Amino acid sequence: MSKLLSILKRYIPERFRGRRFLLDQYHFDLTSFEGDVSDWVNKFPISQQNVEIYFALAELFRRRGEFDKAVSVHEALAKANLEGHSLSEITLEIAQDYYAAGVLGHAEELLVRALEDADEGLSRQAFRLWLAILESEQDWQRAVELVEQYGIAGSGGLRLANLYCEYVQQVRRQKSASALNKIIRKASRLGVSARAEMLAAELATEQNQLGLAISIYRELLLKDPRRINLVLVPMRHLSTVHGSLDSFSRFMKQLYRRHPSVRILDVLLDQNLTSNQTLTDDLDTDVEKQLQEGDSESVLQYWLAKQPSVVKESILPLMPALKKNFLDSADDHLCIECGFHSEKMVWLCPQCGSWETLYSRYELKIEQKLKKAT
Ligand SMILES: [Zn+2]
Repeated sequence: MSKLLSILKRYIPERFRGRRFLLDQYHFDLTSFEGDVSDWVNKFPISQQNVEIYFALAELFRRRGEFDKAVSVHEALAKANLEGHSLSEITLEIAQDYYAAGVLGHAEELLVRALEDADEGLSRQAFRLWLAILESEQDWQRAVELVEQYGIAGSGGLRLANLYCEYVQQVRRQKSASALNKIIRKASRLGVSARAEMLAAELATEQNQLGLAISIYRELLLKDPRRINLVLVPMRHLSTVHGSLDSFSRFMKQLYRRHPSVRILDVLLDQNLTSNQTLTDDLDTDVEKQLQEGDSESVLQYWLAKQPSVVKESILPLMPALKKNFLDSADDHLCIECGFHSEKMVWLCPQCGSWETLYSRYELKIEQKLKKAT
């Protein structure tokens, strides 16, 4: 035992702390480890006295990217069959080695076994790892089945809702409308996912249920007006086709009072909608305010149209400089969990792995201003 420790001292770095066993008390200094695992195990058979060191060593190999050695140590531990360390526990460790090595199929096989045999705590670990594997393989159907069978892991309903959404996207061209509706309804029922509502509205639109689609968009905006940048265009289009632009404008006007995004004002000012003058004739104060912010070309154009020609002529040369600040070119998406930003809207943050945490930077700013004001 003491000989094993003294050899380990040379190999294991100070920074390394085993999950079960603190190794830093030995002040190991690792430069390289070239030894053969089976030689080690032959020389120093695994026993109750050194078992924790072997676990720590395997974990160290895994962290260093030496996955074959990690697997060998774990397999030796499994063979040793010591009290206090169940086969399921070690199987899960080996699955983690394979997962870290990117050998997902093999990891999965082991996890299926671990999930069936293990106690509750280990099952949960096996479940989480398996779900991560299915997500990285984009096997959404099995991911959904897994969660339905064993419960929700991590970020709760939001994660499950997004698994359903991914699944719907994947099979959108293959499955019948009613089958797709059934899946998306499950996501919707969780009541936490804007993306599920977006998808439900898209499906309703495809199935020519325009009134339904419009009401889904409304509900979504009432719940979270920061999603206006995603909803505005399809909702306006639907309302045009559906012949309900007046009610659309009324709704948007109310929403603007709650969430004064210039995107909404742009739409209200648009010529197509101003046919009903009563909706827009009291927006001049809003136009003045938004003009100061300098976010919107439509607002500027609307204001300019009412100015004498001398003002118009003095503003025109400034247009190229002003354009840079207009929302169309200046807005991007920001993760509210980790600060990651992306030009394209994505539902899963690639940096922190959270679902639905990216928002339009501009709409977030509007919300913050409102909060400060109250
Ligand atoms: Zn993030």
